[in-house]
Parts: sequence; structure tokens; C-alpha cells
Amino acid sequence: MLTVEGLRSRYGRIEVLHGIDLEVQSGEIVTVVGANGAGKTTLLRCLSGVQPVSSGTITFRGEALVPVPAYRRLARGLAQSPEGRQIFTNLTVEENLRLGAFLFADDRVEKDMDDAFRMFPVLKEKRNLAAGGLSGGQQQMLAMARALMGRPSCLLLDEPSMGLAPIIVAQIFEVVKGIRDLGVTTLLVEQNAFGALKIADRGYVMETGHITLSGAAEELIADPRIREAYLGI
Ligand code: ATP
Repeated sequence: MLTVEGLRSRYGRIEVLHGIDLEVQSGEIVTVVGANGAGKTTLLRCLSGVQPVSSGTITFRGEALVPVPAYRRLARGLAQSPEGRQIFTNLTVEENLRLGAFLFADDRVEKDMDDAFRMFPVLKEKRNLAAGGLSGGQQQMLAMARALMGRPSCLLLDEPSMGLAPIIVAQIFEVVKGIRDLGVTTLLVEQNAFGALKIADRGYVMETGHITLSGAAEELIADPRIREAYLGI
């Protein structure tokens, strides 16, 4: 579904992605794990089109994505739930969700909203409240639900566990599994390597702008290098 080949990207003169190769098959949860500053967010920003690519290719559902502007990528089926959630705090929960569906003006929007509320019952309870009043975990759920309102075939999920208590992190990862059950393919970027690899089919390890290891998630969890560097085992 998504193929990245030789992807390079830079901030000014400093290159931070040095030739990334990565593949996501339809129906998979694929995770990219790595320490703070490895380049995971930059990779997702290249995929969603808000960060310039200096060379390499991104192919999504058979089409070259690099020339497609960011605002057209959602219509191609690629949605991002960004780092830091980026919800609109002064708008209500429902208004945030409707913004996720900005491409559509059909009856299915209401059905999608009902589906979102079924998946995230707490958002239904709070639908008329300002999103800024939600807890961190609830805001993360809103960010994911808003992305799903865009009817993506592939969801780019940036650090959904960031800043959340362990019990909430476990809930969030359960939700990501539920998103796969909806038939949405997920590329999940995480510093929480163990949590991400536990729910993923395959994983990539990113270090200072390079992919240094990749494989089936269960193999990566068992790999002594990963256990030592990322799992603290
Ligand atoms: P984090 O978990 O902190 O988001 P990350 O793996 O997502 O880390 P990136 O945010 O992609 O890493 O950062 C990769 C490198 O690019 C880091 O060295 C970072 O300092 C640098 N960088 C990120 N954003 C900018 C920017 N706007 N301008 C200059 N350098 C940046």
C-alpha cells in the first residue's frame, strides 16, 4: 500500500533522513520505533506532505506521492494523527470531528460520527464540550477519531502514547488494534517500543535518520539488541 524508497529530508542544510526504505502492506500495523530525535516525526511529515523531500520516492496505492500537495493527500486516503494531537481546543469535540470530515458533505458523515462515538464512548459523553477540557488520553482519542473521520485507507499515527499514564497508554494501543479491525492500515511511530511492537505486525528501528533493523514485530521484541537498547531488558 505504501512504499518509501531512498527517502532523504533536511532542515536547512542539515539532513535528518538519510535514505529511508520502508513498506506497509494493506491491513498491517507497521511501527517505526526509535529514540527522541531519530527522525520519526520527520518521516511522517514527509508522508503527509508538510515536510519537503530532498530525494527518494513515496508510492501510495500505486501512485507517486511526492508531487501531491499535503492538502490533497487525505483525498488519496492518507490521514495523519499528528504529534502533540493538535486538536482545536476552543472547538467542541463534535466540531473537531466534523473538521476531520471536511472533504465530505454526504449522509455518511453522521454515520461516521456514530461509529466514532461507538469506538470512543467517552467522546460521545463530551461531544458538546470544548476539546481543551479533555484529559490527555481523551484528546489523543479525539485526534485519532478526527483522522478516521477523513475515511483514510492508511492512518499515520505519531506517538499516541506520549505523555500518558501507563494504564491510558494500554487503552490507546488497544484502540490502535481496533482501528486495524476497521480495515484501516496503520503506520505507527513510537518511542514506546515495547507497547508498539506488541500490537504491530512488523517494525522498523530508526536511529539518527537511518533504518537500522526491521522485521516481524515478534522477532524484534525477541532481538537482544532491541531488548537492551529500547526495552530496558
Ligand atoms: P521525537 O520523538 O522527539 O519527535 P523524532 O524521532 O520524531 O523525535 P524528529 O522530530 O523527526 O525526531 O527530529 C529529527 C531530527 O531533526 C532531530 O535532530 C531534530 O532536532 C531535528 N529537527 C526536527 N524538527 C526540526 C526543525 N523544525 N528544524 C530543525 N531541525 C529539526
